[in-house]
Amino acid sequence: MKTITITKSAGFCFGVRRALQLAEQTASANKKVYMLGEIVHNPRVVNDIKKTGVIKINELRPQHNGILLIRAHGAPRETYKKAEKLGYTIIDATCPMVKEIHSIAREYEQKKFKIIIIGDKKHDEVIGIKGNLETEPIIIAKKKEITPKAFYRVSKAAVVVQSTQNIDKVLDIVEKLEKHIKKVVFCNTICLPTRLKQQEIQELPATQDMMIIIGAKSSANTKRLYELSKKINPNTYWVNSKTDIRKSWFKNKQKIGIGAGASTPEYIIKEIASYIRSI
Ligand code: SF4
Repeated sequence: MKTITITKSAGFCFGVRRALQLAEQTASANKKVYMLGEIVHNPRVVNDIKKTGVIKINELRPQHNGILLIRAHGAPRETYKKAEKLGYTIIDATCPMVKEIHSIAREYEQKKFKIIIIGDKKHDEVIGIKGNLETEPIIIAKKKEITPKAFYRVSKAAVVVQSTQNIDKVLDIVEKLEKHIKKVVFCNTICLPTRLKQQEIQELPATQDMMIIIGAKSSANTKRLYELSKKINPNTYWVNSKTDIRKSWFKNKQKIGIGAGASTPEYIIKEIASYIRSI
């Protein structure tokens, strides 16, 4: 008899849920609602939002009476300025926890600290943190990027972290930074929903025969959950829909654990759980 255990924190985090609600409310009350890029890294959610009437654009063009939705990941200050100049009214769905990272980074910048961001250089959240600073921060994704040459001019630094990073990796990077920089202030800005997700994914896989992690391949936080789970339980699979699932994975497997990234809607989790039950 198969048992399926879904982590309590699987699926949408508070920030994504809030951004989607704001998008839906705005679209139901207004005609020209635009979104620069995808609201979250999940094609089905992007499609759901399109159906509510929100129009995805890739660049800002002059607009009369248009509304621009800023996504949960936030945006550089330049985007706000440009949008206002071009005639958009801004509805800001930046997650409050991302805003908090902006203000921590700015506070230390004003105290003349070099700002170091641990995160993925190309991720919208990191681009947004960088774009809310006056000075050029240093962005580090991996420990091996830390070389004495890169930091020889830095005597005091404040470290902030992309909200969905893995704490073990981050602590490793901070430890190495402390060897190269005299004064390092570490601000652990990994958000609470991410911490809870990672904590559950550090516990559940050890008790299960296999793990299914649900989320789009473009979702960085899903990737991290998958990597964490795979380390503990090699029978971990990353899927985005039931069509990605192979029946052979379930041979002789009774206890199946499920986790899901912050941009995975509940209906996809339910769809996959009921498909697994039917196998
Ligand atoms: S992952 Fe965390 S910081 Fe990012 S949107 Fe969700 S709650 Fe906010």
